[in-house]
Amino acid sequence: MALMAKQQYLDSLKQTGVKVYLFGDLLDNPHEHPMIRASVNCIGMTYELAEIPEFQEHMTATSHLTGNKINRFTHIFQGTDDLIAKVKMQRVLGQRTASCFQRCVGMDAINAVYSTTFEVDQDYGTNYHENFKKFVEMVQDKDLVVVGAMTDPKGNRKLRPSKQADPDLYLHVVERRPDGVIVRGAKAHQTGAVNSHEILVMPTISMNPEDKDYAISFAVPVGAEGIFMIYGRQSSDTRKMEESADLDIGNYTFSGQEALIIFDNVFVPNERIFLNGETEHSENLVERFAAYHRQSYGGCKVGVADVLIGAAALAAEFNGVEKANHIKDKLIEMTHLNETLYSGSIACSALGYRMPAGNYLVDLMLANVTKQNVTRFPYEITRLAEDIGGGLLATMPSEKDYKDSKIGPYCEKYLKGVEDIPTEYRLRALRLIENIALGPGASVYRVESLHGAGSPQAQRIMIARLANFDVKKKFARLIAGIDKTKTENN
Ligand code: SF4
Ligand code: FE
Repeated sequence: MALMAKQQYLDSLKQTGVKVYLFGDLLDNPHEHPMIRASVNCIGMTYELAEIPEFQEHMTATSHLTGNKINRFTHIFQGTDDLIAKVKMQRVLGQRTASCFQRCVGMDAINAVYSTTFEVDQDYGTNYHENFKKFVEMVQDKDLVVVGAMTDPKGNRKLRPSKQADPDLYLHVVERRPDGVIVRGAKAHQTGAVNSHEILVMPTISMNPEDKDYAISFAVPVGAEGIFMIYGRQSSDTRKMEESADLDIGNYTFSGQEALIIFDNVFVPNERIFLNGETEHSENLVERFAAYHRQSYGGCKVGVADVLIGAAALAAEFNGVEKANHIKDKLIEMTHLNETLYSGSIACSALGYRMPAGNYLVDLMLANVTKQNVTRFPYEITRLAEDIGGGLLATMPSEKDYKDSKIGPYCEKYLKGVEDIPTEYRLRALRLIENIALGPGASVYRVESLHGAGSPQAQRIMIARLANFDVKKKFARLIAGIDKTKTENN
């Protein structure tokens, strides 16, 4: 098949057998639930755009395994062009959803596991890479969504995985059998988990030899025996369950999604295991996945901000202040910050390099710098959008009031901006800003920008490791004449 149509994707979700809890209930049709449906639409866009000729350059690629045309979200990057195309694709999708389309974690995970399994096999004579290639080929052929599952709950952060009071706070092997392993634990903050077909598990930190049972990577279907998910709430999410709240939601069609995945004694067959106790390879796997996903954020968040900047510009226009210099300057500042993020992602892609397995990795320093900026700039961009939007952002009446036969006309009259612009347009632009700045979209645009793909400190640790201060000191010594002086004195 190689490319699935959007409708086929929606139909395929009915077959996954995923078990999802929300408000204490096990949902019968999780993908139809009003609080979840918009997140399904969001992934649906990754299929829909792949069907449209003008987007195919971004949305599709040629598989190096089969030569078939595949969705770029299932592709193993074959060059810096692929890395750049990925970022451009993410920006386009951000612009069309103003949300998290969830599918990048799987794309980034398959690329990180691909290069790591190759190297583990070289060291240990294992067969992980061949097994993994078969898994990737299946994902490409069926055009599946994979949730890349890395983050463990972590419990007491001072303690290593094997030293936790509760051993399940990091996912681990609890039994080894001739045909596979049994695992137990959980993965937290799992983007798009409910809307995926497969889960690709990776360890979350570097491991010591005593953490052997925790250095495990594998893939299982989301509906595998022993797996269930608990849906994560977002602010104002129950507006999606209200009648006549299309306007109030701000982004009715799309949203992101996170869930806690529980692995309650799950069997993993040998052919689906990609790391099993080779503790020293854990660090590389984590670093590579993190780098790819940090690169991702300078694509998707930039696309979301394109929408936010557009909404702020509309709000200004609907108020009649679009020509005021300070408004123009704020829009310029938002754009400058946003394009800086994009520059970082394009740069770390352009400086990507070939791994021994043949696929390409981004420049680690620039990917980490990009993500560090993503932990900051969206907050300033949001502040400026709220500044332009004005106080009505926080005081607007509901859609029901606006449409009410008695009080609606008062809303229409007193919330009007420029005389020939319908009041509803003004409210819609402000609700969209509210969604991204304060509502469900803020989970994606703000908190996820801060903590997704690693919290700010995680990037600072990588930046410190890669900074090579010794070389910089040498440059400084030469220019300052310190080494020369030393030479002369000697
Ligand atoms: Fe993709 Fe961005 Fe969502 Fe991560 S946060 S899955 S990069 S859209
Ligand atoms: Fe994310």
